[in-house]
Amino acid sequence: MTKWVYTFGDGAADGRADMKNLLGGKGANLAEMASLGLPVPPGLTITTEVCTHYYDNKHQYPTELTAQVDAAITAIEKSLGAVFGDKSNPLLVSVRSGARVSMPGMMDTVLNLGLNDETVLGLAANSGNARFAWDSYRRFIQMYSDVVLGVDHYHFEELIEIHKEELGVDLDTELGADDWRVLSGKFKAKTEEELGQPFPQDAREQLWGAIGAVFGSWRIERARVYRKLNNIPEAWGTAVNVQAMVFGNMGDTSATGVAFTRDPSTGENEFYGEYLIDAQGEDVVAGIRTPQNLTKRAREAAGATAPSMEESMPEVYGQLADVFAKLEKHYRDMQDIEFTVQRGKLWMLQTRAGKRTAKAALKIAVDMAENGLIDEKTAVLRVEPGALDQLLHPTLDPDAPRDIYTRGLPASPGAAAGAAVFDADEAEAWAKDGKDVILCRVETSPEDIHGMHAARGVLTARGGMTSHAAVVARGMGRPCVSGAGQLRIDGKAGVMTCMGREINKGDLITIDGATGEVMVGAVRTLQPELSGDFAKLMTWADRYRKLRVRTNADTPMDTEVAREFGAEGIGLCRTEHMFFEGERIIAVRQMILAEDLAGRKAALEKLLPMQRSDFVEIFKIMRGLPVTIRLLDPPLHEFLPREESEFEDVAAAIGADAATLKRRAADLHEFNPMLGHRGCRLGITYPEIYEMQARSIFEAAIAVEAETGETVVPEIMVPLVATEKELAILRVRIEAMAEAVFAETGKQVDYMIGTMIELPRAAICAHQIANAADFFSFGTNDLTQTAIGISRDDAARFLDQYVRDDIFAQDPFVSIDQDGVGELVKLGVERGRSTKADLKLGICGEHGGDPASVEFCHIAGLDYVSCSPFRVPIARLAAAQAAINHK
Ligand code: PEP
Ligand code: MG
Repeated sequence: MTKWVYTFGDGAADGRADMKNLLGGKGANLAEMASLGLPVPPGLTITTEVCTHYYDNKHQYPTELTAQVDAAITAIEKSLGAVFGDKSNPLLVSVRSGARVSMPGMMDTVLNLGLNDETVLGLAANSGNARFAWDSYRRFIQMYSDVVLGVDHYHFEELIEIHKEELGVDLDTELGADDWRVLSGKFKAKTEEELGQPFPQDAREQLWGAIGAVFGSWRIERARVYRKLNNIPEAWGTAVNVQAMVFGNMGDTSATGVAFTRDPSTGENEFYGEYLIDAQGEDVVAGIRTPQNLTKRAREAAGATAPSMEESMPEVYGQLADVFAKLEKHYRDMQDIEFTVQRGKLWMLQTRAGKRTAKAALKIAVDMAENGLIDEKTAVLRVEPGALDQLLHPTLDPDAPRDIYTRGLPASPGAAAGAAVFDADEAEAWAKDGKDVILCRVETSPEDIHGMHAARGVLTARGGMTSHAAVVARGMGRPCVSGAGQLRIDGKAGVMTCMGREINKGDLITIDGATGEVMVGAVRTLQPELSGDFAKLMTWADRYRKLRVRTNADTPMDTEVAREFGAEGIGLCRTEHMFFEGERIIAVRQMILAEDLAGRKAALEKLLPMQRSDFVEIFKIMRGLPVTIRLLDPPLHEFLPREESEFEDVAAAIGADAATLKRRAADLHEFNPMLGHRGCRLGITYPEIYEMQARSIFEAAIAVEAETGETVVPEIMVPLVATEKELAILRVRIEAMAEAVFAETGKQVDYMIGTMIELPRAAICAHQIANAADFFSFGTNDLTQTAIGISRDDAARFLDQYVRDDIFAQDPFVSIDQDGVGELVKLGVERGRSTKADLKLGICGEHGGDPASVEFCHIAGLDYVSCSPFRVPIARLAAAQAAINHK
């Protein structure tokens, strides 16, 4: 016979903590606490399988269920010497839902179940407290009517208010036994009036009503929405916990409270919690009375006068402290606890792993490992890699009020407040004057770089998670909200509008790049603290990971930051990003707009020394570590001049007229620049560009080796390759340039030539392409774009809904689409290695810093991931967790 009901209490239980799937989180932990010998009121758990059965069988319960529940109730009755529904010595119970994970969207609790017109008298007699009994009864009618029968609770609140008015009193505490008795009658009448049926008097009918309501609540709208938002499968179902009531509202020696075994926001090893004397649990949550501190220390810190539990109930507090210690030792984690004191006796109602901030998670993990409660591996698993973001960037003060203006994509984490400006030059000028600014643009392009750099944060109306703004801001560590589609930005007029609200140049705004929120005014931010714990956890993580972690960095400054965060080399240096600033962009534009080879060569002559000196610096910073330099891959639309003044700048630089340049730019216009004349296509058609770059790389490497005496091994990477031929042709040219430089200088360096795998054809033909490659780096930004057929720059407009409708579990530009794009990566790995077993494999798309994608890369057998500097610690931790979880 299937066991549908599990019991707990009196130092024993049928269940265990690891049976959450069957008993729900609450039920499993109640069982565990009972087995530990902690004071848990006896009770029963109806399993999640009953929930599944209920929905699979048109809301019918398994036939054996009634008998099993009855037997369990009998056991509780025996344990307590009380009888369910008995007039003189009634057993009262609470009924609570309990899914595998806590789901605040589901059914509330029903307390005091089993009370009726007769048992209330028994409760009054036994407790010697008629006020308590009638107060409990009216609470029960109120809760049951609301939660189970669907009669809104405001009806009852109203009756209480009227009654108090009639008596001329203000507080509930001024009402006596008779008042609550009268109100109980009115409550029942109200329910009958609303439903056309009397309030159920039979205890068993009440019980099954409540059980049915819990199962029914699994599929109510707000629970469904909650599940969707939190990726909880429908199929899990909920359990139901029925537990003997204990009362915190039996007078001054009774109390109820909630507590964490450590401070959940700082992680300090101090109890943290609140309690209320003479109250039931709902009073603490409802906020009608102000709860008091648990510890004397916390009370003093808060400057509160109401005594702490440590002071008012020292003995019970001592027992509670023992229980906390026992629970932490047993669960080896910080616990979130609910308790009740009934006439001086402590009862435990719940324990579970406590939710905590990233800061607390880090501190608790490190403290527990150092105290031997957990091992290093467990500590590494305890901190969510994505949460490290909170520690690396400023965050919004959670207590500060916010006025949300609009929302966009959380493109680069961190929070920043400043004056809205709509022009990069202006951003730079204002910043020079010492003002904090947020650069707001429809979208950004290379000529905005200096403004992005000067700004505290960047906001764009267009563009997705791999748009120019997003990628560049992440690289710089600037917070960025991109693709805020409801914004209308008029840069010329110096104003932006969203749903009728205007923000003018100079008005203060705040962006939160971690959530995508944009707020009016300056919301207070908190600065990150990279404490010793952070470094410690990182060292432990490094012990376990198999993946190497490199960074995507294009400037000496990014490179420096990345090294500090522990990058083990550069996985992607986007050379086109090295041309973003000042004079350089003019030279690049000169090159792009050149009519002929001579014109291009003239531009390249200017660029060569700039490139070489950047490479020299980067090789020096990364001394001894590998550096992958990608040859030019400029999506043309990011580089072509747009504004009149930009054409004039280029015209002046080369002595041409602006009109001719504009015509040339019009000729070059592409409808799909992301699929256009970029990457190796440029290298194939204009050999001189890659030749210049190869030359500057070799010259720089030779110079740095000569200066430092250390070996530099540049890895030269060719982008957007689709065929073996493309790479083979370019390889010959790069090798020829190497020979030329070696001959000129009389010196040699080792080097590697490889390619990005960022087109489906390249992944499919990886075994051919590997013939010409020493390494592959998966460019999953373009691979996602081309595999799914969605534009990196435009998809934000509809991806939102795709994610909401669950067509994609997540934005595929953020977390790799494992079923589709991931399969292409695996194919590339397999086929590439079938040709060259020692082919070095990495990833340099934005996914390289996403924890789930890093785990995927570990499983796929890559050698390294590469991500923006600020995500290096996240990738290190994610890689360690992947290695621990997937041996
Ligand atoms: C990619 O496509 O994944 C990549 C890293 O290159 P980019 O983003 O520069 O196109
Ligand atoms: Mg690419």
